[in-house]
Amino acid sequence: MAENVVIIGSGPAGWSAAIYTARANLTPLVFEGDPMNDLNRLQGTAPLGQLNLTTEVENYAGFPAGNLQQYLNTAISKDQLPYMAPHTGHGVSGPELMELMRQQAKNFGTRVVSKDVLKVDLSKRPFKLTAANRSFEDIVDGTLEQIEAHSIIIATGARANYLGLPSEDAYKNRGVSACAVCDGALPRFRNRAIVVVGGGDSAVEEASYLTKFGKVVYMVHRRETLRASKIMQDRALSNPKIAMKWNSALEEVFGDDENGVTGARLKNLKTGADETVEASGVFLAIGHTPNTLFLDGQLTLTDKKYIQWTTAARTFTSIEGVFAAGDVADDYYRQAITAAGSGCMAALDAERYLAAQGTH
Ligand code: NAP
Repeated sequence: MAENVVIIGSGPAGWSAAIYTARANLTPLVFEGDPMNDLNRLQGTAPLGQLNLTTEVENYAGFPAGNLQQYLNTAISKDQLPYMAPHTGHGVSGPELMELMRQQAKNFGTRVVSKDVLKVDLSKRPFKLTAANRSFEDIVDGTLEQIEAHSIIIATGARANYLGLPSEDAYKNRGVSACAVCDGALPRFRNRAIVVVGGGDSAVEEASYLTKFGKVVYMVHRRETLRASKIMQDRALSNPKIAMKWNSALEEVFGDDENGVTGARLKNLKTGADETVEASGVFLAIGHTPNTLFLDGQLTLTDKKYIQWTTAARTFTSIEGVFAAGDVADDYYRQAITAAGSGCMAALDAERYLAAQGTH
C-alpha cells in the first residue's frame, strides 16, 4: 500500500514536516539517511543534517541559556541517549536540537528508516522510491527497499563546499568550519586571527560577522576582485579588521591535537610565494551544493541546482504532490529556523494536496 507521505531528509525541515504530518494523522515515513555510510560522513550528508555538524546553537528561538541536561534525560528515549555526547554548552547544541526534533516527531507516530533514498520515480502516481544502506554488499544482496508514496516532501538540505584538503578535514569542528553564524562566537576565536576563504557575499558576511570576535580576519580570495555585491564589497574593504589576501589560495591548515587550528599556509597564485599566517580558525565560504543528485533531473532546479519552488510562498515543485523544504530549496536564508518553518509549510501543503486528491 502506498504511503500518504514520505519525507526524505532529517534536518530541521524534515523533522518539522514530520511533526506536522504526524499530528495530521498522515503517519509519515521519514528516510533519515544511512548513519554508517562513509560517503555520508565525508561529504556532510549524514542523518540529522548540517546542524549535527555544529556546536552551540544560540539563534534558534526557544532555547535561552540554561542547563538542558535534565530535560534531555527526560525528553530523549533511553535507547538514543547513550549515543549522544554529554551536554556541555550553556544553551542547546546542534546535535541536541536535532535529537529533540527527531524524538518529537517519533512521539507523534513518525516512522523512521535509517537508509538513504537512492532514486525516485516521479513519472506517475503513486511515486516510487528506492532506498538502501548504501554499502555495496547491501545492494548486491538485494536489500533495496521499494516504497510507494502519494506525496513526497524533499528535505535533503545542502552541504557546504570544502576545498578537500586533508588538513582541512583533520580539523573540522576544531577550528575549521563553514558556518560563522554557528561557530564564530566560540571562545577559541576571541581576539585571535581567523582565515575566511571565498570572495562572494557569504564570504564577506562571514568575515564581517567574525570581526566581532576575532582580532583580524584574513579574507583569502583566489582573484583580485570580489564576486560579492557592491555593497558587500564596500563593507569588506572598509572594515579595518578585514585584511584582504588577494590572488591567494589556502594550501594547508596547521594545527595540533591540543589546540585544533593554529595557522594556515597560503599561496599567492600570481607569484607562487608561500605565506604562513597564525590563526585559530579557518572558515570556508566557497558555496554550497544542494543534495539533489538522486532526483536525476526529474524536478525543475534553479541554475544553482536547488529545487525550484514553482509558486511564491508555497513549497510546490514542478511535480504536483512533491514538495520541497529547507536548504535544498533555499540558497539564501539557510538558517535552521527558516528550514523548520518551510518544513511546516510543506507538511500543510502535502496535507491539503492529499485531501484534494481524496487520498486522505
Ligand atoms: P558564490 O557567490 O558562489 O561565491 C563563492 C565564492 O567562493 C566565489 O568568490 C568563488 O570564487 C569562491 N570559490 C568557489 N570555489 C572555490 C574554490 N574551489 N577555491 C577557492 N575559492 C572558491 O556563493 P555565496 O557567497 O555563498 O553566495 C551564494 C548566493 O547567496 C549568492 O547569490 C549571494 O548573492 C547570496 N547571498 C547573499 C547574501 C546577502 O546579500 N547578504 C549573503 C550570502 C549569500 P570566484 O569569485 O573566483 O568564482
